[in-house]
Amino acid sequence: MNNKNKVLEDKLPKNCCTFCSHLSLEGPDENYRYYIKCIITNEIPRPSDCCKYFNQEHTNLTTNDLDYLYLDFLETSLRIKYEDYRKSLYWKVFKDNILNKYGHSCSQCNSTNNVDVYHINKKLGRESDEDVIILCSECSSKYYK
Ligand SMILES: [Zn+2]
Repeated sequence: MNNKNKVLEDKLPKNCCTFCSHLSLEGPDENYRYYIKCIITNEIPRPSDCCKYFNQEHTNLTTNDLDYLYLDFLETSLRIKYEDYRKSLYWKVFKDNILNKYGHSCSQCNSTNNVDVYHINKKLGRESDEDVIILCSECSSKYYK
């Protein structure tokens, strides 16, 4: 991996290399929804492992292409409405990842009823574990306002 790739990789979200360089946000469709797809497989990215195309030499994309795609993705993440962002496949996959990693229980009361992942820091498109919190619906109305 050359130095530019290394720099690019450092900028990508941790835990989720599939989310990053090969993703595109498509849309909006007739319902103003956006969809995130792997630009290579044309599928929803896999959450837990690096895709086999992660090595740039397996794509025909240049480092610049990847850079632009990623920046584009980040920009779109910030541009779309927050509620749309929360409906995106990117968020869905990220959220499932967090829930699976930390257990499906509220970080405040350990309840497993109606838990969801909430942002502490809205680093949309580039959030990491520290930017989100798992809360049940009851605690979310207490703490997340
Ligand atoms: Zn709770």
